[in-house]
Amino acid sequence: VSLRISALARGIVQGVGFRPFVYRIALAHRLVGWVRNGSNGVRIEVQGDPAAVEAFLNDLRHQLPPQAAIESLDVADAPLGSDTTFRIVDSAVEDTVQPAIPADLAICADCLFEINSPIERRYHYPFTNCTQCGPRFTIIEGLPYDRPRTAMQAFPLCDACMAQYGDPLDRRFHAQPIACPACGPQLSLLAADGHVLATTAAALQEAAEAILAGQILALKGLGGFQLLVDATNDAAVARLRQRKHREAKPFAVMFPSLDSVQAHAKASGAELAALTSDEAPIVLLARREAPGGDRVPLALSVAPQNPHLGAMLPYTPLHVLLMSRIGRPVVCTSGNLSEAPMVIDTPEALATLGHVADVFLVHDRPVVRPVDDSIAVVRPDGLALLRRARGFAPKPLRLPAPQPTTLALGAHLKSTMALSLHDQVVVSQHLGDLHSVEGATLLDRTVADWLRFFAAQPEQVACDLHPDYASTRLAETLAARWQVPLIRVQHHHAHVSAAIAEFGLAGPVLGLVWDGTGYGTDGTIWGGEALVCEGADFERVAHLLPFPLPGGERAVREPRRSALGALYAGWGHAGTAAAADWFTEAELKTLTSMLDQGVQTPTTSSIGRLFDAVAALTGLHLKAGFEGQPAMALEFAADGIPTNGGYELPLGDGLPAIADWRPLLKAIQADRRAGVPVGVISARFHGALADLAVAIARRFGSRHVVLSGGCFQNRRLVSLAAERLSLAGFQAHVPRLFPPNDGGIALGQVFVAGRRHAGEPPDQRLNT
Ligand SMILES: [Zn+2]
Ligand SMILES: [Zn+2]
Ligand SMILES: [Zn+2]
Repeated sequence: VSLRISALARGIVQGVGFRPFVYRIALAHRLVGWVRNGSNGVRIEVQGDPAAVEAFLNDLRHQLPPQAAIESLDVADAPLGSDTTFRIVDSAVEDTVQPAIPADLAICADCLFEINSPIERRYHYPFTNCTQCGPRFTIIEGLPYDRPRTAMQAFPLCDACMAQYGDPLDRRFHAQPIACPACGPQLSLLAADGHVLATTAAALQEAAEAILAGQILALKGLGGFQLLVDATNDAAVARLRQRKHREAKPFAVMFPSLDSVQAHAKASGAELAALTSDEAPIVLLARREAPGGDRVPLALSVAPQNPHLGAMLPYTPLHVLLMSRIGRPVVCTSGNLSEAPMVIDTPEALATLGHVADVFLVHDRPVVRPVDDSIAVVRPDGLALLRRARGFAPKPLRLPAPQPTTLALGAHLKSTMALSLHDQVVVSQHLGDLHSVEGATLLDRTVADWLRFFAAQPEQVACDLHPDYASTRLAETLAARWQVPLIRVQHHHAHVSAAIAEFGLAGPVLGLVWDGTGYGTDGTIWGGEALVCEGADFERVAHLLPFPLPGGERAVREPRRSALGALYAGWGHAGTAAAADWFTEAELKTLTSMLDQGVQTPTTSSIGRLFDAVAALTGLHLKAGFEGQPAMALEFAADGIPTNGGYELPLGDGLPAIADWRPLLKAIQADRRAGVPVGVISARFHGALADLAVAIARRFGSRHVVLSGGCFQNRRLVSLAAERLSLAGFQAHVPRLFPPNDGGIALGQVFVAGRRHAGEPPDQRLNT
């Protein structure tokens, strides 16, 4: 007796060696039939002895290749066929596209061995890959995932590669990006004016020598251009900062080896595991004051006044080969200007980075879409992403229920977009800030890219409540063009909802959302919010006592303005006397009169701005090189200092309850006068915020409390608040798979739009 079954496997089943695996286990159990990629998943039909079919299904579920994950496996009996062998058959394009695009994977141990082995034909070949590693998302142009629908279509396979591609027992069996020196992409080294200086191995060697000579290299990597410079050469790093217009924001560093990482930073087992994982993100590590052994220290300008270090290891064969020739740590940062999107093609790179980089190491494999390096931290609860891109995007997240196809366009900074498809949502890779034309264009392009990719037609569009975000304007245009509903989601509501989606929370959830800026339903700037969220609905139950920001947006760059606004709100003209040292007499006069008249002084309840005010009051930062720098300085000042007590930060009785920072600022001023060290002040300030979180949870929370918003990237604040909430009987949830900063907003918007459609009451019980 023979049995035939037909199975549909969905999940991460393409681009991970899944079909070869199916082939091998079918052979092992002496079954006939076929396996085929479809845009809807992988379809398998096998036939043979019923016990063998059973054993096959068991292996299918439990012996998966490391990168594969089966989300669902539908198995049904099928009529017997006449197959005499087991085959891998051509892919079929089906109607509904499932969101299962593989992410890019760091080079595997087998390929690493091969490129270092002189007897192999891929010895020193920078585009080596296999079914277990290599480019995926950055080369895929359409589904199903097959070579003709990738950037590799321009590289016909040589006979030797074709033999490997077709051999079920080879680890490159059906590896779509397969390549070798004879048939694959090649390197060139270009001068800034575009003329070719060298090719292939010589290009690599000369690029390494340029770095060692202190030059800036633009490298066409996996997901776009990167800028590389010797991290031990202060003048070279300073030149990169100056040319890239990046004053103070820390640079990430690529290390030639794990040994080298450990010489410069302290990494726990979990942090080492993250560095060497298939996703290979940048991991924020604690820096050693002096490097171990006889290592040359990193240049001060790599990460000024920062006890952390963003570290990564080479993750493509190209990076491996380049780093082994350089042999020392290298600054490795996105190839862009300021916060504009990463440049992906060579002519564009020569045009925009021509005055930044001295030489360009490029290749002829197109980058289909920009994918930046991901950034992660290891917290006690596991790896948490601060920037979600390479290795993680576009892995889908399952929603609690199917919902109409929803396109969400996210926020304005650290932008991402999201698309729901049935009961799953795919969130784009980090797209960068939307200030620039390039940023807004990339968002536009990404929308078109994804809709084509997934053959999706949105039934609703979601965006932020902020009227002036480029993402909001695009959403308005698209909703009008498609004649579908536009759902505007309040910024902090979206933050909490993203975490509700990630952790699958149900029922009313208290969310504490502390960040820099978000448009409130009353038109003021929110950012120190406590929202009780349920379905599509939220209630603002508590917030920080609002204060004015003289000059509005400029306060982000000048913490002294936040401090002045708070002092003025707290104590009027008497309060502003303390600000006399921070401004010239004329400046102070202008700002005070703005405050008196209420012109250009938007009101905010932002904890991000309270951090700024405290940083100014403690003398750490009167001006900031980038948003978040003052808060980081405060966090770092408290390193190694235990939090004993916290300042008083009382929560009023009303609804919403107001958290009054006036006693806190008074106490900080008194401590300053008494000569209390800044680190101790900072520890007490963090303590006050953690106590506030507990006070709000006690009054308005049930079991689950979400902590989100940019302020919760602060590790001291996160661990302190989570620990105190837990002692008080609450369970804190801090986003991990999606960033707590505005990179998570698009996901929250999709979730809220889905709940609103599900018939949840649309009217928000607002207390503003
Ligand atoms: Zn490999
Ligand atoms: Zn070849
Ligand atoms: Zn935000």
